[in-house]
Amino acid sequence: MIKKKKPNYKLRRKIAKITLILLIVVPIFLINQTKILNFPLYITNIKYTGIIDSLFEVDFTKKEVKDTLKYLKENERINDNTKNYILELDSMGYNKNTIEYVIKNLNKEQITEFLSKKYNKDYEKYIENDLFVFSKLERYLNYQNEHKDLSIDEIVYRIELNLDKTYYEDSEFVKNPDDITVLTNKYLEIPEDYEPEDLVDMDDNYANNSYRQLKLRKEAYEKFVEMCDDSREDGVNFYAESAYRSYEYQDILYKNYVYNNGQEEANKYAAKPGFSEHELGLAIDLANIWTITTKGEEYAWLSKNAYKYGYIIRYKEEWEDITGYAAESWHIRYVGVETATKVYKKGMSYEEYYIKYIAN
Ligand SMILES: [Zn+2]
Repeated sequence: MIKKKKPNYKLRRKIAKITLILLIVVPIFLINQTKILNFPLYITNIKYTGIIDSLFEVDFTKKEVKDTLKYLKENERINDNTKNYILELDSMGYNKNTIEYVIKNLNKEQITEFLSKKYNKDYEKYIENDLFVFSKLERYLNYQNEHKDLSIDEIVYRIELNLDKTYYEDSEFVKNPDDITVLTNKYLEIPEDYEPEDLVDMDDNYANNSYRQLKLRKEAYEKFVEMCDDSREDGVNFYAESAYRSYEYQDILYKNYVYNNGQEEANKYAAKPGFSEHELGLAIDLANIWTITTKGEEYAWLSKNAYKYGYIIRYKEEWEDITGYAAESWHIRYVGVETATKVYKKGMSYEEYYIKYIAN
């Protein structure tokens, strides 16, 4: 009888353990070796302008960044300034995105200015915002101080809209009043002599012409007719009470409003001449103004359908601090079907949409 040899379990277990450890440790070691060994070669082979890019492309540790900078300096691939800026920003505690932004986008003067500021974690969040402009940093911080409930994103786009400035006083002229997507508000003024070239008379069927013949830009009018016809098929009826207004006419309306209600109240509801969307020939006040409320069936229909005809509800209660106007459930604005659809889907005020997706 052959005696079966008892297997050496102890040894087998030991071998399995060692194999397992090697399987984990060796690849880690190899990966690190290649990265460390190949890095100078990698850096040497790229053009000077690409060096900073590559430094931020790979996720290096702080020590690796320091070693790399030292290597680049020794090989004259980077100057003293850049090296020192990177090290200083890093030691202040800024993340790679911030360091990258500062090195790539700011000039020497601006970098010195940035370095003189105390570390602020919020700077990193501001810099990550698509609309961030370095020269507006102080304005962001001041606005943030006054509006502590707003997010960084809300602060940045509001500064882009100049909401921290004095309305009517610090305004700029719009450059493209003929563009159907143009934004006008208390900070963006329409030139006094602007008059749309394609104004058309509105038909009595769609407008109250009993005081004066209402006019609108051709494209906006055609879409309005289409919208009225369709809404009437659904049993909902509205028409235009006011449409295009000249600068002079807006002036009369505004002065009347001020005379009857006082300046402050007037600014909430009426636009100063030069600042009304009605001067673009793209805005309509629907009738009957006082019956078109957010609770009415007209408003419900428009909320659901207006964008399909290129119209947006321009002034809502939740946007009052952005638009600068009290909610107007009767005021609609033509921006074209494509833009109106996008604005509708984003659920944004036109100010926010414009600054994020049209102006920039
Ligand atoms: Zn209006």
